[in-house]
Amino acid sequence: MKLFVAGMAHETNTFSPLPTSKRAFEEMMIRPKTGQGMDRIGDAFGYKDFIRMGEQSQMQVAKSLFCFAQPSAPTVQKDYEELRDEILADLKAAMPVDMVLLMLHGAQMAQGYDDCEGDIIERVRKIVGPEVAIGVELDLHANVTKAMIDNSTVLMVCKEYPHIDFDKRAEQIFDLCLRAQRGEIKPVMYKFNVPMLGAFPTTREPLRSFVDETAAMEGKDGILSVSLVHGFSWSDFPEMGASVVVVADGDMGKAKALAETLGKRFFNMRKQIESPRLDIDEALDQALAEPKGPVVMADRSDNAGGGAAGDSTYVLEAILKRGIKNVALSMIWDPMAVQSCFDAGVGATIDLRIGGKTGKFSGNPVDVTAKITALAENPRQFMFGAVAPLGRSAAIQFDGIDVVLNSIRQQTFSPEAFSELGIDPKSRKILVVKSTQHFHACFAPIASKIIYVGAPGTLSTNYLQFPYKRMPRPMAPIDKVSL
Ligand SMILES: [Zn+2]
Repeated sequence: MKLFVAGMAHETNTFSPLPTSKRAFEEMMIRPKTGQGMDRIGDAFGYKDFIRMGEQSQMQVAKSLFCFAQPSAPTVQKDYEELRDEILADLKAAMPVDMVLLMLHGAQMAQGYDDCEGDIIERVRKIVGPEVAIGVELDLHANVTKAMIDNSTVLMVCKEYPHIDFDKRAEQIFDLCLRAQRGEIKPVMYKFNVPMLGAFPTTREPLRSFVDETAAMEGKDGILSVSLVHGFSWSDFPEMGASVVVVADGDMGKAKALAETLGKRFFNMRKQIESPRLDIDEALDQALAEPKGPVVMADRSDNAGGGAAGDSTYVLEAILKRGIKNVALSMIWDPMAVQSCFDAGVGATIDLRIGGKTGKFSGNPVDVTAKITALAENPRQFMFGAVAPLGRSAAIQFDGIDVVLNSIRQQTFSPEAFSELGIDPKSRKILVVKSTQHFHACFAPIASKIIYVGAPGTLSTNYLQFPYKRMPRPMAPIDKVSL
């Protein structure tokens, strides 16, 4: 039996100030097909698990590329087509295959393509024909489209936010596709649209219990899989939004009925499951009121992992204005300031202008007189076990605040984003991280309290500030909707 594995992942924010080219994929990861480089950020996705499962099952595994770029604006058309066509050419060369497994994101757009995943899956289906099982794993921040559903055999998103379960979902998809290929099951899929925007952590109730409840339905009573798809709220196109996808064994009526029931429940809990966000001063008041640290403040709107620049200064400015000390912030993306720090050297004190550069939600640049406390060529932090590189980085200190400046745009995943630059995160009263929710997996164990800050930013949930033109309406919370 022959398995073909490939993947491409990009979460596209149509409001991001950062264009996306092939260089953006090269900076994060275009995985060599030789099997090397398995510890890079993209390997936290299910691609390597598909390969592992195939090899464990004594299949012949044809590996095409897996590439990943940090979230940003739609990909340049020719660069997307070049990467896609490489996957398709590898598939044609590998034919005939019995099974195709694709690790995609589900919210990828390119110039000329609203739905890159639908485009890829449709082209794969044309090559392999109707009988071959195509399994697709997506991020739960997917905007699942008709083309994706129509052309895949089993489509599933990760269940957890933070996304700690790509490996388990890959195993599940592998298993279902194998059983479909053997004729043991006949997967049918139904998608129910849930017209809501939002970011919904699965670490909190009531969503935690809802995820567990739906996971427990799988493998029973003809239900093969249930995906609660959160959607990606910053991809402005007609098929964006949350959804519920149910895969049933041969019974479309059953899939439809369950997707509708769960979709309505998902929609009706939307206000309870959105993470609470405080304005900056309220968040700082709460952090200061906490008897001990570190209080982790998540600047969720300036998350590079959702297409923001990662260089906004709103939170830093407020901390400086209030004269709050014993704070560490990681990271502000500012390659130019990093270069100045390298030129001046560790121990030097220099005038530096940091952050506030890239887009209209970056805020003002901040002028500081800072001591350079550490420099590192390639500090590493970890995203669910895989390396998420920071690039050349510097730690600077001013007014009782430590700030990490970095060169590869990246969200804050783990405490190494501080410690690799000589800052002991446990010793600070307040840690500011630029991440919406993924920080939670590695920071919760050391945090005395976690506070989500609703600062301005490219990922703000103040949706009315974005010039949506193509979103399907009505959409909650912008419009009044009832289900
Ligand atoms: Zn996601």
